[in-house]
Amino acid sequence: MATPLVQIEHDREIAERLAAERIRLRKLAGLEGHTHFHKPIERAFTAEERNKVTILFGGFTWKHEDLIRAVFQGCGYRCEKLPVPDVPAFQLGKEYGNNGQCNPTYFTVGNLVQYLQFLEKEGVPRKDILDNYVFFTAGSCGPCRFGMYEAEYRFALKNAGFDGFRVLLFKDSDGIKAASGEPGLKFTVDFGFGMLNAMHMGDVFNDLIYQIRPFEVNKGETDRIFRETVDDLCDDLKNRKSFEIEQSAPDWAKPKFKSNKILRNTFNVFGKMHEHLWGEDYLDALAAARAKMDTIEVDRTKVKPVVKITGEFWAQLTEGDGNFNMFAFLEREGAQVLVEPIATWIAYLMYQAKAHAKAKYPVTRPYRSPKWYQLKQHMANQMSLRKKLMGIAVGEKMWNYLYHRTAENLGGITHHLVPQPELAEMAHPFYNQFARGGEGHLEVGKNVYYTVHKLCHMVLALKPFGCMPSSQSDGVQSAVINKFKDMIFLPVETSGEGEVNAHSRVQMALGEAKVKAKLEFEETLRSTGKSLDDIKSYVAEHPELKRPFYHVPHVEGVTGTAAQFVLHVSDRMNRSHRSWRRSRSHGVTVPSAA
Ligand code: SF4
Repeated sequence: MATPLVQIEHDREIAERLAAERIRLRKLAGLEGHTHFHKPIERAFTAEERNKVTILFGGFTWKHEDLIRAVFQGCGYRCEKLPVPDVPAFQLGKEYGNNGQCNPTYFTVGNLVQYLQFLEKEGVPRKDILDNYVFFTAGSCGPCRFGMYEAEYRFALKNAGFDGFRVLLFKDSDGIKAASGEPGLKFTVDFGFGMLNAMHMGDVFNDLIYQIRPFEVNKGETDRIFRETVDDLCDDLKNRKSFEIEQSAPDWAKPKFKSNKILRNTFNVFGKMHEHLWGEDYLDALAAARAKMDTIEVDRTKVKPVVKITGEFWAQLTEGDGNFNMFAFLEREGAQVLVEPIATWIAYLMYQAKAHAKAKYPVTRPYRSPKWYQLKQHMANQMSLRKKLMGIAVGEKMWNYLYHRTAENLGGITHHLVPQPELAEMAHPFYNQFARGGEGHLEVGKNVYYTVHKLCHMVLALKPFGCMPSSQSDGVQSAVINKFKDMIFLPVETSGEGEVNAHSRVQMALGEAKVKAKLEFEETLRSTGKSLDDIKSYVAEHPELKRPFYHVPHVEGVTGTAAQFVLHVSDRMNRSHRSWRRSRSHGVTVPSAA
């Protein structure tokens, strides 16, 4: 007999029945206890431990890491960088980590375990490793597996026998601050601005080294000079005296600053800020670095295809097994690599924060539906959005300004940050800018941007095995390639194995890019009406053209460095010739000028 339908009158009754059913089902599944995941409470890193605890970190290029380490050391911390993750580290990550992680997780998690095992082999007792080392990393709430890194580190460390090893997060003040007393890692003004400078300098050096090395005349010179330059800057960051108003103020004002804490702190913040950004010490150190790098001799007439690297954050940054040593391979194969600065990622985060604030405005405004005459409420709604947007816009402006200023001070040939609105707009027909995770719409946007502006001959996307956001954008790229027919785009899935296979795929695509670069160069040279020997003889007579920081103006629509260079040299030759003819017609002799 069918059960008669009972009419439920009240919402309360529905809620009660739901709760009762939930209890019944949980009991059935054996989940009666407290099952919600709670982050384990981390043992604090306290101020008293600063002198004996070493902060470990990693995951960037050697240029970024050396500079970051110098800032830590300059602020009084013991700090060491982890080695570049390699295949044995990946295998350890697989052995001790969860199944089904993305490639960077295995590499980075395994790398930490490998380093701790190395310390143990060197004779450091396990207890000392747990007490005297902490790992510092970035944290996130997802939506991709980045949100799980912290938990993965802990899980693998526990499985490898390092249970209780401290993992501190940038975003998580609980991990950094002690529950009581002074935090072990203090975000001071010196630390903050020091890190900002280190990140920007790291980005700029990374860009420069890949721009200069392919054209160096003396093999190995670029690596040697960059090593020395970065070391000098690290010494400067480590040993620079911190600005203190009590020491810098005139004698008559010193007692005032001593007795008034608020006054002292305010002047110290602005003084330190000025010192880090505009201080003579900093600018002199950059000028010395620039002068040193400018001694490298380059020959820009070498024809090389420009390969733009895109892909997932870590895969496009690491210079090791994590991306099949792709950059070194490309350079060996005769390419010029165009790397991506970390600053683009930060600019992307700020741009997205602005876009999200606008999109969410209808639900986040303080007054949902004010009447037309409730002007105060309309105003409050508007102000709530404007305040947020203005705050982010100021951050964006500062970030861009400081990045480009560092680039300018270090030679002025570094590529500028790609405008975020244009990237989003170009990606939008294929990839919604609000689809979050990983690089979001950036991979698609960069592919289109660098192709339509003719800034590269080929785009190589390094996409980690098991990366959810990269798989999404990969699916979309086939539509992008269909639309832009002359695009050479190659996605390569990076993993702990399959290097030979990946290299051979890159070699094939690079073959096409080389033909493209060669044809472009020949056409450009023909358009100048000069031979390569003419150009080379002129360069031989003008040594400034062999300096890496000699500025070759960018000609729209021309991609290759060699093609840009011959156009410029040809212009200079024409100008010299015209001025020589003018001087002859006026009966005077002037030396040929640039
Ligand atoms: S973007 Fe991809 S590779 Fe990077 S953490 Fe997220 S899932 Fe992993």
